[in-house]
Amino acid sequence: MKAWEKDLPRAQWNTFKKIHQSQPWFEVVEVLPKIYAIYEPYQFQEVISYLIIGEQKALLWDSGTGIADMRLLINELTEKEVIVLNSHCHFDHIGGNHQFSDVMVFDHPDMINIMEHGVSQKLLDEQLGMDTYSDNSPVAYHKVIHRRCSYHLCKENDVFDLGRRRWKVIHTPGHSADSIMLVNEEEKVLMTGDSYYPATLYCFDESLFDEYVSTMRTCANQYSEYVLLTSHNEPKRDGLKLKEAACFLEMIQKGELPFEKKNDLKYYEWKNHSILKK
Ligand SMILES: [Zn+2]
Repeated sequence: MKAWEKDLPRAQWNTFKKIHQSQPWFEVVEVLPKIYAIYEPYQFQEVISYLIIGEQKALLWDSGTGIADMRLLINELTEKEVIVLNSHCHFDHIGGNHQFSDVMVFDHPDMINIMEHGVSQKLLDEQLGMDTYSDNSPVAYHKVIHRRCSYHLCKENDVFDLGRRRWKVIHTPGHSADSIMLVNEEEKVLMTGDSYYPATLYCFDESLFDEYVSTMRTCANQYSEYVLLTSHNEPKRDGLKLKEAACFLEMIQKGELPFEKKNDLKYYEWKNHSILKK
């Protein structure tokens, strides 16, 4: 068993209704009414994508690693027209994009660069290599290759109206410069992407850290009464976690917390929060 697997299966997944579908690679649960969390538990990233069903349309928030067939899965879950929207340009959130005829991405140079030039094969081989699969994986290793897809751009404050379900785009730089979240103000649900999730956070770019702190503070002030749906490990968290995360990042910013060196990154820990940063 690999080190990252020691906490599997993660407890929260068993508290939701499991949705039947045909691919053993995915685990699908209904995390909120007509919002399906699509989990990839057999790969180190433990990434989570989401399918949100409205009265007229559906929205797929990220398309996963690309290891299994996201298009087939979505066809099994809904017959509605599906808008695909990426939370940010990292490889584990855009892997299935090419299976859809068109995707929506945030209008940011980093995202457009990935859409135009792809993710490097070296990075994909490292990050999605055989040694990143669980020993219990029901699917044999296969190489993921970035494939281009056609795309359209969305901007901050754009609203996706799925029919009695409206989701607004907000720009939340920090984890990456192009990170966005999706807000549903009526239902008080916040899709956090990789800006917040219940595991070690990452900030790879030193110049983004101050923005990360202010993103987290703004979100903590506005969305602490919301339900958070996060993109790694476990799907659901209370919005109050944003307040803790904002305090955590602010303490780091003020130099109040000790850190441990891990390769060329600094590792900080406080309560249940941790981050690796440049
Ligand atoms: Zn990411």
